[in-house]
Amino acid sequence: MPITPVLNPRYRDPHAYPHGVAWQDGQFIPVSEAKISVLDYGFLHSDATYDTVHVWDGAFFRLDAHIERFLGGVERLRMTLPVSTEDLRDILHGCVALSGHRRSYVEMICTRGWSPDFSRDPRKSGNRFLAFAVPYGSVANAEQMRRGLHVRVTDVTRIPPGSVNPAIKNYHWLDLIGGLYQAYDHGAETALLLDSDGNIAEGPGFNVFAVKDGALLTPEHGVLAGITRRTVLEIGQEEGREVREGALSKEALCAADEVFVTSTAGGVMPVTRIDDAPVRDGTVGPVTEAITRTYWAWHADSRYAEPVSYLAPAPE
Ligand code: PLP
Repeated sequence: MPITPVLNPRYRDPHAYPHGVAWQDGQFIPVSEAKISVLDYGFLHSDATYDTVHVWDGAFFRLDAHIERFLGGVERLRMTLPVSTEDLRDILHGCVALSGHRRSYVEMICTRGWSPDFSRDPRKSGNRFLAFAVPYGSVANAEQMRRGLHVRVTDVTRIPPGSVNPAIKNYHWLDLIGGLYQAYDHGAETALLLDSDGNIAEGPGFNVFAVKDGALLTPEHGVLAGITRRTVLEIGQEEGREVREGALSKEALCAADEVFVTSTAGGVMPVTRIDDAPVRDGTVGPVTEAITRTYWAWHADSRYAEPVSYLAPAPE
């Protein structure tokens, strides 16, 4: 049966900050009312997976790819999503439609849940699903987008893939948070972490690319297979560039012609300073600009855009 997007009238304040709508326990509610139990192992053990997709100018971007990655994480964690894939889609559309956002950040989450007797055996917990839509947000603010981010290469090692499979998008963020503080301590705006071989991995919520002589290189080992990363690789291929996934040393990063980071939260974001030195001449480069233009143009491309089923205006 299709999910009907109706906000539960019991909740009085749909405009509490941030303005947005969540779906939980079979109903749509203001996001400020969405809750998770302290007994949920998603909270106690970070035993959860999630995905984030954005809506741009009224359409989801690559929703199928985000749902596929999310369902892959659920399966790898041996969870059972308590809603069907069809309902999941309806719920995501419903959250955005009820919030009215034309540009939105939409998150779907599956947690382990809790067991009736507080058993540590994960098989005994009933898995939980929730989703929400809030206004679109970006890793980089408007000024950083214009002049490029200032990034610190930290000495923090990203949690290795032998410990947590990065194909499962997860909330194991203490390494990323530690990296952020290290970056702030050095006057930088965000951080890059290393992989277990000492090469560049990724940062808090983004992948990274180096551009050298027009070719694109992005780390492969121990990073989330970002959907924005995939999109940029495809754009690079369409533009006839050499694109490569592989080891990226700090030296190669610092010697690149251009550097940018990629995320659903911000798209393609230029980096113009690494540690205490500018990238090339410290300005946003032409390859970054060209890829950024195509990335946003693809948001209107029916191959990737899925219009949100907004609610019809109520009859007079
Ligand atoms: N790496 C990490 C650790 C992330 O959390 C994210 C996004 O949240 C990304 C990379 C970028 O992935 P995507 O482009 O799918 O947003």
